[in-house]
Amino acid sequence: MQLPPKSEVKSRFMPQALDLVLQVALDVPLPRLFDYLGSPGTMPGSIVRVPFGAAGKGLKTGVVVAVASSSAQPADKLKAVEAVLDVPPLPPDWLALCEFVSRYYQHPLGGVTSMALPPLLRQGKLPRRTKARDASTAAGAVPLPPTFLLPTLLDEQAVAVAAITAAQGFAPFLLHGITGSGKTEVYLQAIAAVLARGGQALMLVPEIALTPQLEGRVAARFPQATIVIAHSGVADAGRTRGFLDAHAGHADIVLGTRLAVFMPLPRLGLIVIDEEHDGSFKQQEGMRYSARDVAVFRAKQRGVPIVLGSATPSLETFHHARNGRYRLIELTRRAVAEAPPVVRVVDTRREKLQDGMSAALLKALEARLEKAEQSLIFLNRRGYAPVLACPACGWISGCRRCAANLVVHLADKRLRCHHCGLEAGIPRACPDCGNLDIHPFGRGTQRLEAALSERFPTARVLRIDRDSASTPSKWQALLASIHAGEVDILVGTQMLAKGHDFPRLTLVGVTGADAALFAADFRAPERLFSQLMQVGGRSGRADLPGEVLIQTEHPDHPLYRALVDHDYAAFAAAQLAEREQAGFPPYAFQALLRAEAKQLDTALEFLGRAREAAAALGGDIALYDPVPMRLFRKMTLERGQLLVESASRPALQGFLAAWTAQLYELKAPRDLRWHLDVDPLEF
Ligand code: ADP
Ligand code: ZN
Ligand code: ZN
Repeated sequence: MQLPPKSEVKSRFMPQALDLVLQVALDVPLPRLFDYLGSPGTMPGSIVRVPFGAAGKGLKTGVVVAVASSSAQPADKLKAVEAVLDVPPLPPDWLALCEFVSRYYQHPLGGVTSMALPPLLRQGKLPRRTKARDASTAAGAVPLPPTFLLPTLLDEQAVAVAAITAAQGFAPFLLHGITGSGKTEVYLQAIAAVLARGGQALMLVPEIALTPQLEGRVAARFPQATIVIAHSGVADAGRTRGFLDAHAGHADIVLGTRLAVFMPLPRLGLIVIDEEHDGSFKQQEGMRYSARDVAVFRAKQRGVPIVLGSATPSLETFHHARNGRYRLIELTRRAVAEAPPVVRVVDTRREKLQDGMSAALLKALEARLEKAEQSLIFLNRRGYAPVLACPACGWISGCRRCAANLVVHLADKRLRCHHCGLEAGIPRACPDCGNLDIHPFGRGTQRLEAALSERFPTARVLRIDRDSASTPSKWQALLASIHAGEVDILVGTQMLAKGHDFPRLTLVGVTGADAALFAADFRAPERLFSQLMQVGGRSGRADLPGEVLIQTEHPDHPLYRALVDHDYAAFAAAQLAEREQAGFPPYAFQALLRAEAKQLDTALEFLGRAREAAAALGGDIALYDPVPMRLFRKMTLERGQLLVESASRPALQGFLAAWTAQLYELKAPRDLRWHLDVDPLEF
């Protein structure tokens, strides 16, 4: 039997000395705990290695959730815990957080605790200790930075910091302010106040690409603080050490992506969620949780303030601010630049575009090149063209594993599926009819890049998307060359919209945005608005005024009008009115049951039975029909979904608990997998 190395084992037990029943959460797809025998010292929150599986041969790592004096299992069936990890038990509030998440998202507790643990602990291992910590760094108050180092707060910022700092107990704030309005400065000063009182701060940001810049800013502001960085780009041992530091109370600030919401923080004093509207706070696989929503629960549980910051708050959050559940703080001015960019729509209905660009945009580009200023063209579609097609016989480059087209990537001469990664060479002739005259159709960033290079041969054109910035270091290198002034025209996807300052950028051109206006997903306009606000906000910082040109065939669309007027509130109000009328979130609460199998019929049949079970439960619930998902085949699996909805959150939660219990009992075919997605963001 494989045992963990000696150093990782605190104690091993002799069977006769056992007298406690430990209820252990294990990462298995069953909604239950497992009983083991343990020694008296073992407490809830302990991490244990236990025998599991046929003949008890395998070992699994789990978290002790409760300690009992007896078990429903017959005594001779109970096995003993193999080892207890040498880690202080996780605190009750951490267990309660995991229990809440398990209940709310209808996910087995063992799956939650396993995900909430850092990589090594999850495997029952400990990181090698680097150096013993100086006891003085623990639980000490971090002094406020000397005031001469801080910018003098603008009035609105000062009001924001004062409100957050004065808050007693649970207090949710929405900090709404355009890019550059000084939200980060507000976070930092609110964090400073918490650290000065001896508290810990948790700050969540959407994407790993955002953290290096911010990391530097936080570290520079708090040179005396212990800062733990937590995201998936940090190596396993480092992440585990960070978790243990936070747990021990050594960490003053935890800065990370969504997974950091599960860090144990004994002295937690403040939570900050930057770019709270960002979809990447929602995990889209495995346990589908929203780190933002979990963070709000956590702030409530711990009785601390939480600041949700954004230039374009999610409609859920804005709704809460309007109805008074969250306190709204607004920053209405940019902290440094004088004026926001001028936003204009370019009506393309009666114009023949050249490589997807209007005369107005091309002229604006030329003007920037003459003045040696930077321009950015936004096109939210990577690759050269979305599809390769044969005009003679109608063949198109489809993915054989997905219900999707293979995208033409001319940069590396491949066809590639953006859903499953399948790749193929670019055929010279039509595979069906042999026609040599096959074409890429449509336009992606690579094609735009090529067209711009051809049109402006002396300009330095740089493309930024998930292909060119495929690793954090490539992304850093691209950013560095932008900052060094080595780029005249940037072409890119929404990656470019993320929080970066490009000091010489004065023109943003938006192309291909109309599609999102009429997308089937009711959240598409919200996402588009936020992307365009963000990407527009890149221009015209410092002393150079910015201009945003949006090419559209719907120049009078309210979404574009709101952008022209810089009026988030008007856009949000209109969207909320539509949502209320249609009965969509935040006026309704939703959950999706998704099923996938080799055959679509198998998935739909299962969903049909799940629907029958749901109907029998009754309650204040609307049940929709099982339907194929829009991308109905992915990675050779065919997928269907069933939407359930209620106007009442508690009604939905009560229903989901009862329904999930039944779903585990439904006899699912061997090849079928299902999961629930509570508060789904994508359909
Ligand atoms: P946001 O997070 O809203 O985009 P930041 O906090 O990053 O805004 O502020 C934008 C820029 O303005 C940064 O360079 C920041 O250092 C600067 N800044 C913020 N607040 C002030 C202030 N009160 N005085 C001077 N500069 C400020
Ligand atoms: Zn053909
Ligand atoms: Zn595919």
